[in-house]
Amino acid sequence: MSISQAQSPAKPGLALWHKILIGMVLGVIAGAILGPNAEVLKPIGTLFINAIKMLIVPLIFCSLVVGVTSLEDTRKMGRIGMKSVALYLGTTAVAITIGLTLAAVFMPGAGLNMAVEAGAATGKDAPPLVQTLLNIIPKNPINALASGNILQIIAFAIGLGIALTLVGEKAKPAIAVFDSLAEAMYKLTEMVMKLAPYGVFGLMAWVAGKYGLEILLPLIKLVALVYIGCILHVVVVYSGIITTIGGLSPVRYLKGVLNPAAVAFTTTSSSGTLPATIKAAREELGVSKGISSFVLPLGATINMDGTALYQGVCALFIAQAFGIDLTTSDYLLIIMTSTLASIGTAGVPGAGLIMLSLVLTTVGLPIEGLAIVAGIDRILDMARTSVNVCGDMMVSAIVGKSEGELDTAIYNKESRIS
Ligand code: ASP
Repeated sequence: MSISQAQSPAKPGLALWHKILIGMVLGVIAGAILGPNAEVLKPIGTLFINAIKMLIVPLIFCSLVVGVTSLEDTRKMGRIGMKSVALYLGTTAVAITIGLTLAAVFMPGAGLNMAVEAGAATGKDAPPLVQTLLNIIPKNPINALASGNILQIIAFAIGLGIALTLVGEKAKPAIAVFDSLAEAMYKLTEMVMKLAPYGVFGLMAWVAGKYGLEILLPLIKLVALVYIGCILHVVVVYSGIITTIGGLSPVRYLKGVLNPAAVAFTTTSSSGTLPATIKAAREELGVSKGISSFVLPLGATINMDGTALYQGVCALFIAQAFGIDLTTSDYLLIIMTSTLASIGTAGVPGAGLIMLSLVLTTVGLPIEGLAIVAGIDRILDMARTSVNVCGDMMVSAIVGKSEGELDTAIYNKESRIS
């Protein structure tokens, strides 16, 4: 994927996320003034939500096929690829579990009492997990695409990606088509995101008009929980793996990730941070060139622990806000969908929000919940992108160490970052 295309060049004027935040504030003000009459502004938001829905199927399908075919090197590098992918996906599942646990304990969305629109999906519409697992292989992939069955689409895309990789030379044109379609979808995402300030304005006006200003406290709770979860994941899970599996100093790891984490925090793009990540892995953690240049780009594409954690917290927040009880199979479905979806999430600003709509759709939660989260998404994106990058660095160190490709002299040296 081309990073330059996925990110807007720096333009004079307000950054998109500033506009979204302004849209949110103005929306809340308009809602407070207009009260229930703010409903007239809702169609602007509905337009934005529909545009996001439009993106889900083609975006996930194309980017997953491309994501899997980009694993071509995995076959060549066999063991290293397997280790990296296992660590990437394993930690992603842990991250989302942390997110779900925090949200289940602290209930950030409780008391919001939002009503599900008539005809909208609710958690109860989701089929039991066993049935979902059995149905994961689509009998008819076109039908899966047309009906938006996300798990079936993911299964088919992964299968197609593997097949294209195995075919080799003859599959190159098809891979190029998916590649360019995926690029077009990233572009379309960028275009849709330009609507976000207006959409967020309309939706926030409606939400604030209908439910009052009490909406703000749960949002503050949501931000706090995502940040706490992100810190826990890096300090406990990553440092724990570095210490136990890697036999390395967690303090050195935490110092080594500082620079790229700061870049990620400000750019909210793990793909955009890649050069800083590779530099830090080599110079701060002593990971070899070979390992860092394979494991890190792979991680920037398929490893999204921060995004998964955020999806866990937000999915539950939305369920609580709409008063929908989730079953154990719903929780497992969220873990599975987010883990798989993380493979197809582009490392660009705001991609996680689109993927959240995918998780909501799969579990049968109201997609309107996105509106509440969208206004503060940038603040959440900063934390989750930093975690995504710290995860890539952790895996590069562990894989490097296990392959004898980590220079412990560099790893243990006094950091230049104080
Ligand atoms: N911005 C994130 C990243 O680049 C993806 C996301 O939106 O969660 O890693």
